[in-house]
Amino acid sequence: MLLTISTTYKPATDLGYLLHKHPQNVQSFAQPYGVAHVFYPEAREERCAIALLIEVDPIALVRSRKEKSDESFGLKQYVNDRPYVASSFLSVTIAKVFRSALSGKCADKPELVETTLPLEATLSVVPSRGGEGLLYRLFEPLGYEISAKRHPLDLEFSDWGESPYYTLKLKHNLSLKDLLTHLYVLIPVLDNDKHYWVGEDEVEKLLSKGVGWLEKHPEKDLIALRYLKHRRSLTRNALERLIEEDLDIIEEQTDSCETEESGLEEKISLNEQRLQKVCEVLKEESATRVVDLGCGEGKLIEKLLGERHFEKILGMDVSYRTLERASQRLHIDKLSPRDANRIELIQGSLMYRDRRLSGYQAATVIEVIEHLEPSRLAAFERVLFEFAQPDLAVISTPNREYNVLFENLPASKFRHRDHRFEWTRQEFRDWAKTIEERFGYKAEFRTVGPEDEQLGSPTQLGIFKR
Ligand code: SAH
Repeated sequence: MLLTISTTYKPATDLGYLLHKHPQNVQSFAQPYGVAHVFYPEAREERCAIALLIEVDPIALVRSRKEKSDESFGLKQYVNDRPYVASSFLSVTIAKVFRSALSGKCADKPELVETTLPLEATLSVVPSRGGEGLLYRLFEPLGYEISAKRHPLDLEFSDWGESPYYTLKLKHNLSLKDLLTHLYVLIPVLDNDKHYWVGEDEVEKLLSKGVGWLEKHPEKDLIALRYLKHRRSLTRNALERLIEEDLDIIEEQTDSCETEESGLEEKISLNEQRLQKVCEVLKEESATRVVDLGCGEGKLIEKLLGERHFEKILGMDVSYRTLERASQRLHIDKLSPRDANRIELIQGSLMYRDRRLSGYQAATVIEVIEHLEPSRLAAFERVLFEFAQPDLAVISTPNREYNVLFENLPASKFRHRDHRFEWTRQEFRDWAKTIEERFGYKAEFRTVGPEDEQLGSPTQLGIFKR
């Protein structure tokens, strides 16, 4: 079983610091199920690759097993796919051999732990019990670029058909810790065979490894079920706890979102001007069915609801508590039946393809993208421009250049502490260009708020048309 991880980060040999393995050494680690070897097929400044090769010994496995085998086919315990395929043995080995990298420790270069690296992982053989689609369902929502090559059952007998085995390449810009964590959890899920580990602390392991991504993963139920070996009571417990933790994190991040920013931007009632502009654009383009993504407390929805022109308005936000506030603000329970039919609020994430977002002429994404991790923007781009595919998308985001004109904002700080980035006008245009090229949209730009000759306006508005 072979896993290779490579990077083109400069210097690429920093991979050695992160993994605590010197690029010039070959090391071997005895495990109860065989031997794990670690070596670098390539170690240059421009590109570095580390290989983890595990020789599983089926005889050692049989001997170490306490209970008697229940295999109906006696030889199966010796002759099976375990030595060749990525399975829970790989996860256990990652946790042992790359322990500090998996837990995010790097004594020599601590800053590397959270650094986003261009990483590529190749698994020479993974069993995907659920077909190729499952590979995509598990890794795509996390932002991976995937290439999978399926292997025939037997090269000489093509009519035997395909096997469940794939060579899988995963590419993504993310921290090494995140990559190892995703592999650790998802490989046994793909395999879905008997797992090597057994123990009541599995829920804890899944939760500790899943924080920050699993709770938002659209396949979290399947992942928990398979990871916990179909033990439904454990699965239910894990899922309930995951969802609670997820909501706490999101609520914390967004709670003060609107107050903090609006305090800063008050003087020019930027928010009102922003909503006015967005409304104008929607009308110019004769959009009557609109979806507001990351709708927050529903200020835009309130405005659109007041204009008869808009026939159907869908608001989506990831935060349940924010949606409750939107619902109160809009007096959802007191609306006339006609207005009640015009609006709908749903909980959902911009990270995941969602059928409910199709069929709208226009999508608005107002002051939201800067809250997304840059490494997850790619997922959002596909959700909006490839899957939802509205004719018109209106996206607003702060113009960082303007920040120096806010008296209360210290230099180099963002307008809100949950902002992951703030773009200059050029950065927004560069991003828009990639959208034009990849998804066939055409972008135009407008300003919102008072314009400074040199620094532009406080908010920038991108209008994308298909
Ligand atoms: N559009 C609103 C709110 C902006 S605040 C307005 O202009 O007033 C940003 C909003 O984005 C928050 O309500 C937050 O919950 C939401 N958000 C953040 N990440 C999200 C995600 N991944 N999916 C959906 N909404 C998200």
